[in-house]
Amino acid sequence: MNVLVINAGSSSLKYQLLNPETGDLLAKGLCERIGIDGKFTYKPQLPGKEKQDAVDVAMPTHSEAIQTVLNALVDPSNGVVGSMKEIDAVGHRVVHGGEKFAKSVLITDEVMKAIEECNPLAPLHNPANIIGIKACQALMPGVPMVAVFDTAFHQTMPPVAYTYALPYEYYEKNAVRRYGFHGTSHKYVASRAADMLGKPIESLRIISCHLGNGSSVTAIDGGKSVDTSMGFTPLAGVPMGTRSGDLDAGILEYLMNQYGMDIHEMLNILNKKSGVQGVSGVSSDFRDLGAAAAEGNKRAALAVDMFNYGVKKYIGAYAAAMGGVDAIIFTAGVGENDAKQRMAIASGLEFMGVKMDEDANNVRGEERVISAADSKVKVLLIPTNEELMIAMDTASLVK
Ligand code: AMP
Repeated sequence: MNVLVINAGSSSLKYQLLNPETGDLLAKGLCERIGIDGKFTYKPQLPGKEKQDAVDVAMPTHSEAIQTVLNALVDPSNGVVGSMKEIDAVGHRVVHGGEKFAKSVLITDEVMKAIEECNPLAPLHNPANIIGIKACQALMPGVPMVAVFDTAFHQTMPPVAYTYALPYEYYEKNAVRRYGFHGTSHKYVASRAADMLGKPIESLRIISCHLGNGSSVTAIDGGKSVDTSMGFTPLAGVPMGTRSGDLDAGILEYLMNQYGMDIHEMLNILNKKSGVQGVSGVSSDFRDLGAAAAEGNKRAALAVDMFNYGVKKYIGAYAAAMGGVDAIIFTAGVGENDAKQRMAIASGLEFMGVKMDEDANNVRGEERVISAADSKVKVLLIPTNEELMIAMDTASLVK
């Protein structure tokens, strides 16, 4: 079975064609500058097939973008499948499922309506996801489509974790609550962790650290998300590449008064100019920050230390929330690649049974145990694979 995974943004669209049963990736790529001019990247993974990098293809709408993807996948000389018949289903990443979607779902007219009703919760993302779904439906009639939500995995959180200490009517009338994001990634790595440890996921208390440009930490008890660091929006939690993470809301009024800013300008600063970028003044990329810190840049070092400290605090908090922890997972760009930061985060946690293995940790992007053999808490490095998780969810619903 082959599943086309689509992640549609407002002017870009990422795609992968995968076999969820074997985990094989057949092709992946990207459409960019949709609605502007159009650039198409196609990376077939089969031997003898030629990669195309950012070639010009007119893409006035998402429809031409998806048609370009389909043409490339079935191209007689450079394609990876013989015909459209070999694309059995499409899995769409959808950012926000609100409280309506606690699981992935086969897309019907009613489901489309319900996703549209979630638009106000993710006004920048959900409308683009919907455009991607509609374009696919028009070009692939009869092919089953599944929506996989970034928020769904966290719908198991109890009220004590998802309720904000605001007047309760804002939850009841306006759906203001913690939703959490990166759910597909946290679900995937937690399931891999259970396999690696050879234990049923129901028996494990896991803390999953998805550390990339956007970062979130999740407490997973018995396979269910019970708390997570991102909130109503992805702005909450640990400091990120350019997002502030948690902060005192009183700062907003103070700075808006000081600089005569409106709320849009303030939020632009919190989303795009804060985090490790804001503190360091150097970069949002942890590779640049590591290099700058090594050359003696104190603010770059402070930004990295603040990030590591923020993650460590969430690990402590979630161990307390679950009454202990059996495994800690590191994943995503920083979590998979930066041995020094993993070490900085995990060191000092010996009091709760975490003992790292420095040699095992000295690796990049490889699924493995990085704690010492006698560590009470297992620490795991697990490369995330959101597309495979989407393809697996899609396959299980289509079957
Ligand atoms: P992601 O959002 O998961 O793609 O992660 C992107 C972030 O991962 C980048 O901003 C980098 O800061 C970080 N990253 C990627 N590769 C490395 C690496 N080799 N060493 C340290 N950080 C890395």
